Amino acid sequence: MARLAELDGIEALVARARGLVRAEVLEHVRLDASTRLPIYALRLGPDDRSLPTLGVFAGVHGLERVGTNVALAWLRSLVESLRWDAHARARLESCRIVAIPLINPGGMARGRRSNPQGVDLMRNAPHDAVDRVPLLLGGHRLGPWLPWYRGPRDAEMQLEARALCDFVEAELFESPAAIALDIHSGFGTRDRLWYPWARSTEAFPRVDAARRVVELLDRTYPNHVYMVEAQSDSYTTHGDLWDHLFMRHAQLHEAGDATLLPFTLEMGSWTWVRKNPRQLFTTGGPFNPVIPHRLERALRRHLALVDLMLRAVHNHEVWR
Ligand SMILES: [Zn+2]
Repeated sequence: MARLAELDGIEALVARARGLVRAEVLEHVRLDASTRLPIYALRLGPDDRSLPTLGVFAGVHGLERVGTNVALAWLRSLVESLRWDAHARARLESCRIVAIPLINPGGMARGRRSNPQGVDLMRNAPHDAVDRVPLLLGGHRLGPWLPWYRGPRDAEMQLEARALCDFVEAELFESPAAIALDIHSGFGTRDRLWYPWARSTEAFPRVDAARRVVELLDRTYPNHVYMVEAQSDSYTTHGDLWDHLFMRHAQLHEAGDATLLPFTLEMGSWTWVRKNPRQLFTTGGPFNPVIPHRLERALRRHLALVDLMLRAVHNHEVWR
């Protein structure tokens, strides 16, 4: 099998950033008898898990390659800043960054949304939605031949979902202030920034904190491109991993001594498809900007957002 360019990208970043980025292989995903693909986790900054922490995640859905590339573009930019910008280095003494830039390498290698077992990882957490979900899209148990399959009832979470959840619990749950940004691309013309819930149209318990972070974004970048909403304003789903993690975190921190804010960046891909309808039939598929200048634009477009999330983590007293 040809190497995945995105895995090469992660390895190149780690090789170039020795001493700044620490890498670990969380799991290997088995594709076939001779192919196993690593799920890499990266860490920057001190190893002290009680520090404010930003988590950057991408590639949950194998078709959404652009998300992994956006995460890597930001990490590369940060690494270059750390080489010459004393201010950037100082920030990373009192907060930390963790990342899984490609959670579903098997799906990406196969050119499909799901993992190699046909399971949509973002529908794979054990809980059901509180509110009605859209047919199929909201998650179903009919079988892996349809997209948005949740996996078998009462089964363990899939290897990739388990790896993500274990990593987030280990790396973000001890932090007094943690923000997770999970990067996706989907249908729609706008780039959306979602906070929870996916499981319910009710307001999630830390909605005020989420809105304060969004207010920082609005005030700092008044011309930003994002449509900010609760995910359930777009649609509700069963088994969302961030809902699951938020609920686990809330159980452990009933006293309110720590905050975990999971955000999802859902890049709207209709603009790329509308300008280049033929790409619907290419291997890049409908969820990625296929033409190089559009990919470059997507890579530039979100750097300020991820930077702002890091600054928000560092200055968490402002929004917590
Ligand atoms: Zn996605």
